[in-house]
Amino acid sequence: MLTTRQRFTALLLSLVFTGLTAQQSDQGYTEARQRMVQTIQREVGQTSDYLEKKQLDERVIEALKTVPRHLFVPESQRDSAYQNRPLPIGYGQTISQPYIVAIMTDLIAPQAQHKALEIGTGSGYQAAVMSRLVEQVFSMEIVEPLGKLARERLQKLDYRNIEVAIEDGYHGWASEAPFDIIIVTAAASHIPPPLIEQLKPGGKMIIPVGSRFMTQQLLLVNKDRQNEVTVRQVLPVRFVPLINKSEL
Ligand code: SAH
Repeated sequence: MLTTRQRFTALLLSLVFTGLTAQQSDQGYTEARQRMVQTIQREVGQTSDYLEKKQLDERVIEALKTVPRHLFVPESQRDSAYQNRPLPIGYGQTISQPYIVAIMTDLIAPQAQHKALEIGTGSGYQAAVMSRLVEQVFSMEIVEPLGKLARERLQKLDYRNIEVAIEDGYHGWASEAPFDIIIVTAAASHIPPPLIEQLKPGGKMIIPVGSRFMTQQLLLVNKDRQNEVTVRQVLPVRFVPLINKSEL
């Protein structure tokens, strides 16, 4: 039989131990995140011809280093959170590959005073990264349970400059338009005209375009100060499709 004192000591030890392992795993995730950022930077170097730049912007690197990606994936995926690949988040959807998040964020050149629109909230990770770089993020998700989960997660993690709407993003967010930057994280068959309309003169949009079973192209859309629109094909990518409301 254990004495009360022994029992108390055992309890105390187990509390200290639990605290220590939690701290150790936090440290582990931080280190894994640093390694993920190094992997992304290496891949940016290898694809610099496509990107027309050799390095990511320092601010983008900083944002990637701070957002806790492991808290945006299902618990069963947590140990894979910092690998450079997409992961399932339920409802047939995925959180994008970290390299893709990094280059999409970088290519639209986010500035501190910008108002950003994202189509395809998913886990909320891309919105969280963007929120470190701009003033306000408006993010739209068509799958209700995913949108609700992302909204709760972003609130719990204290990302205060993000609003999530559960709606079809094809039509954009007219009441908040125009936007300095628009980021679409699901593949469309064409660039939705309402999104072009809701882009400010001088604004940029990044969007994967292509058909469901073929390689898609990541497009960088520029609207100049005279409202002239030009499109640059960046590189081939693979995204989940943009869902039409009638498909739900
Ligand atoms: N940006 C997300 C990954 C998105 S995966 C992240 O960081 O985790 C693409 C997301 O787009 C999915 O969650 C999908 O449900 C959503 N989606 C697909 N079609 C949509 C539409 N028409 N409007 C808004 N969201 C859409």
